Amino acid sequence: MIPAAFDYVRAATLDEALGLLAKHGGDAKVLAGGHSLIPAMKLRLSQPKVVVDIGRIGNLRSISERDGKIAIGALTTHHDIESSDLLARSCPLLPEVAGKIGDVQVRNKGTIGGSCVHADPASDWPAAMLALDAEFEIAGPGGSRTVPAKDFFVDILTSAVESGEILTAIHVPVTAKTVAYVKFAQKASGFAIAAVAAVVDKAQKGVAVGVTGVAAKAYRAAGVESSLRGVELSAATIATAAQKAADGVDPLSDIHASMEFRAHLACVQTKRALELAAGRG
Ligand SMILES: Cc1cc2nc3c(=O)[nH]c(=O)nc-3n(C[C@H](O)[C@H](O)[C@H](O)COP(=O)(O)OP(=O)(O)OC[C@H]3O[C@@H](n4cnc5c(N)ncnc54)[C@H](O)[C@@H]3O)c2cc1C
Repeated sequence: MIPAAFDYVRAATLDEALGLLAKHGGDAKVLAGGHSLIPAMKLRLSQPKVVVDIGRIGNLRSISERDGKIAIGALTTHHDIESSDLLARSCPLLPEVAGKIGDVQVRNKGTIGGSCVHADPASDWPAAMLALDAEFEIAGPGGSRTVPAKDFFVDILTSAVESGEILTAIHVPVTAKTVAYVKFAQKASGFAIAAVAAVVDKAQKGVAVGVTGVAAKAYRAAGVESSLRGVELSAATIATAAQKAADGVDPLSDIHASMEFRAHLACVQTKRALELAAGRG
């Protein structure tokens, strides 16, 4: 439980952090809240020679709204999001998700950016990011680029952020109150065995459903969404559509849940999330 030896550098600005990453190449790792990187280093699953701490770059920790879009700095903690009045008003799915992450210590230190870059298949944020069609702003040596959520979560523990790059912000649209996040959690850690984020657009008669914990990466439940496109939501239409929540997916199997149980939970949680979202607002 003791990490391999490493050098620690604290960056004061984004440019300084990018310069340090360019200088040290693949030997360097970014440190944000440390709640995934430090455990990985202690287990020696990750052995960076240099740790670049971006945790005190103040302008990466913010929540703001402009022209129907909300920008969330990558260093914004789960607790910042859980307790944000702006988000409670303008994007209530995010505080709902944040409140279900880990425990108080994890929520106080862990950041939305670190969680998304880490891309743990059992983490909470990817379901919401997919359901909201979030956009990820990534800074690198050649400038900055934007990646849509559907391309951001690449594989197990792999996101679109490459070595030498830093995720700076996440952009989500202002949404109505007809949203919900439900989670079947692993009791000891709080990580998701199956969790679903639902966004219901009553005016357009459409739904967006993001599922995490079930497969190697979070996904949009396309079969559920197409079944409900243009359809009046009712207990019956939701129940039928929710049966498609694991269609085309290879569910994970581990000591916590078999493939079959995860697929079943995906359907059950999708039904619950859609019923809850449809009843709100
Ligand atoms: C006991 C415990 C319980 C937990 N329970 C849950 C849970 O229920 N649900 C859940 O979703 N998560 C859970 N977590 C994980 C937690 O949410 C972490 O905070 C999160 O996964 C990582 O965020 P961090 O800021 O700590 O990132 P770090 O650990 O600092 O970094 C994680 C990875 O992302 C990289 N990175 C970080 N920020 C950036 C950036 N801006 N740009 C580029 N790369 C970056 C790092 O180099 C590292 O590879 C739990 C963790 C613990 C220890």
